[in-house]
Amino acid sequence: MLAQDVAAPWPLPSFDNSSMDGYAVIAADVAAASEAEPVELAVVDDVPAGYRASETVRPGTAIRIMTGAPMPEGADAVVPVERTDAGAERVRVTAPVDSGAYIRRAGEDVVAGQTVLTAGTLLGARQLAMLAAVGSGHVLVHPRPRVAVISTGSELVEPGTALRHGLINDSNGYLLVAACREAGAEAYRVGPVVDDDASFLAAIEDQLHRCDLILTSGGVSMGAYDTVKAVLSQLGSVDFMKVAMQPGMPQGHGQVGEDRLPIITLPGNPVSSYISFENFVRPAIRRMRGLVDLQRPRLRARCTVEMSSPAGKRQFARASFLSSGEVVPVGTGQGSHVLGGLAAADALIVVPEDVVTVSVGDDVEVVDLRGA
Ligand code: AMP
Ligand code: MG
Repeated sequence: MLAQDVAAPWPLPSFDNSSMDGYAVIAADVAAASEAEPVELAVVDDVPAGYRASETVRPGTAIRIMTGAPMPEGADAVVPVERTDAGAERVRVTAPVDSGAYIRRAGEDVVAGQTVLTAGTLLGARQLAMLAAVGSGHVLVHPRPRVAVISTGSELVEPGTALRHGLINDSNGYLLVAACREAGAEAYRVGPVVDDDASFLAAIEDQLHRCDLILTSGGVSMGAYDTVKAVLSQLGSVDFMKVAMQPGMPQGHGQVGEDRLPIITLPGNPVSSYISFENFVRPAIRRMRGLVDLQRPRLRARCTVEMSSPAGKRQFARASFLSSGEVVPVGTGQGSHVLGGLAAADALIVVPEDVVTVSVGDDVEVVDLRGA
């Protein structure tokens, strides 16, 4: 992400040059040229791309020229080789050209001093070409933020290893790392970390100098082993609160360590974790990247089934777009542990705090998850 405006120190093209392989001529010389009566000119020089002609084009003469080579003095047009006999010493021109034909003028693309890219532009292939063309070898950029994703929970096991009864796979780690990457961050998994204070503290300390943002999942509700909350509360600069949303009530954020590294603590239930990520973390990552537009696109669509929503909480219901443009909730209910609905969703229906029922055919607000 570009963090500065870039101006062109010189014009593009920086000199008048030929857009064709052919002959630099004086257009008036070949005005009467035809297949039947070609005009013959003396070829006084040859100028490949990367060289300059040492001769001047005078009436009755031409200089052989290649695409991209600077226009010689005296010439005001290029005759493409296809309209000649391609002669080396003398050339027969079989068609006229207008004055100025097949010349790429200096500055016709970019004028000197023109701003070619502005701060906040994502540098992809096409933008890098422009930087290179104007000779910007070094520019200021926002680096991709590095995010450490720490999964907490003594019940968590690495996917692909045997599960004892009562244990589950760490899905949040993968969910959040992928979501961070989709949001444009560098992200990596840490853990799973067992629910004891010393292990969690060690995991946090280990990441302090490695990343720009720590994300944790789990351990922030009211449970007896909710280590994250217990440990970070004592550090003093992390606040925990309940947000009136469903799913995703328990949230926390603050700073840790000497360098006051930002930390966001997400709830453990995978759906809560994802919805919290969408609402609080994705915008933060985009902000860290230097983007101005932080939010997903939102639109209004007709909901095709009846839905209920808790009073006093803003519901983010996993939903899917129909080909008609309407939306329908997906999954077996909106429980915050229901991963099936999450995997099938490409939209979130946002039901406001004061709405408890959505009727069939109601217009609802929809977060569009389909984009990057
Ligand atoms: P917690 O917030 O730690 O009480 O966790 C709430 C629920 O989410 C529990 O059922 C946990 O087992 C589950 N959970 C916590 N972390 C993860 C994770 N990384 N992957 C999948 N489920 C998790
Ligand atoms: Mg837990």
